[in-house]
Amino acid sequence: MEKVYTIKEVREQVKAWKKEGLSVGLVPTMGYLHEGHASLIQKAVEQNDKVVVSVFLNPTQFGPTEDLEAYPRDFEADCKLCESIGAALVFHPEPSEMYASDFCTWVDMDVLSKTLCGKSRPIHFRGVCTVVSKLFNIVTPDRAYFGQKDAQQLAIIRRMVRDLNMDIEIVGCPIVREEDGLAKSSRNTYLNEEERKAALILSKSVALGKKMVADGETSATVVKEAMIKKIESEPMAKIDYVEAVDGLSMQPVEEIKAPALVAMAVYIGKTRLIDNFIVEE
Ligand code: AMP
Repeated sequence: MEKVYTIKEVREQVKAWKKEGLSVGLVPTMGYLHEGHASLIQKAVEQNDKVVVSVFLNPTQFGPTEDLEAYPRDFEADCKLCESIGAALVFHPEPSEMYASDFCTWVDMDVLSKTLCGKSRPIHFRGVCTVVSKLFNIVTPDRAYFGQKDAQQLAIIRRMVRDLNMDIEIVGCPIVREEDGLAKSSRNTYLNEEERKAALILSKSVALGKKMVADGETSATVVKEAMIKKIESEPMAKIDYVEAVDGLSMQPVEEIKAPALVAMAVYIGKTRLIDNFIVEE
């Protein structure tokens, strides 16, 4: 497996692969990889001749008071994981390689990026759309892999690809969870022992909402109220949002029917965690 740090090197390698007629899959990540990321890389390895994993802690998707500095990093461990799954190349650029000092071109989105996480993280999805566009331009993959864990991000990337006619297949992958239900996240490392236990309230609330919908409840208000009540039973939890939205537009709905997304962001202490379930046909 190759480790490369410059855009030029990635381009040269991908060009050589394409010349041989090989297909290329891209898995964009911010590093500190876990089994959630591994499931994306695995799927990419199954579906493509060559897989590129980008490990880039993208500064433009973090707000000024967010956790960019504290975000965990372990590039050597990341490379070992990528190699063990069969990735061909890890792209690990410095921020200065990705953003010139006078960088001023952005990819932004209306509507979908204004609800859910976009409400409390107003510049987040502009940073995501911009960096993902850049990675798509650099790697020119046939397919790119994103987790349902970040369901709004997945919907936004799908919309961006459609709206801007990017010739890339977006593959969504299911949420990978710890044995006790907590969705795997690089940010789980912020939790102390007590917070780790309290964090289970997210997946418990997701399980409750999912069951209510499976049992036939369609009122978003009823489902949300039950989920909120559940979360509020945990004293360490502070709700950012619990919302039911249309699965494509990310706009709030009153009736939960496919395609829908029921999503939440909850603070456990200082750590903001997200979880969700989707309602499909
Ligand atoms: P991140 O490094 O947090 O930006 O995540 C990189 C990719 O991995 C994103 O597409 C995430 O949605 C995905 N991902 C992160 N955690 C999980 C998980 N627990 N299950 C599935 N995908 C995940």
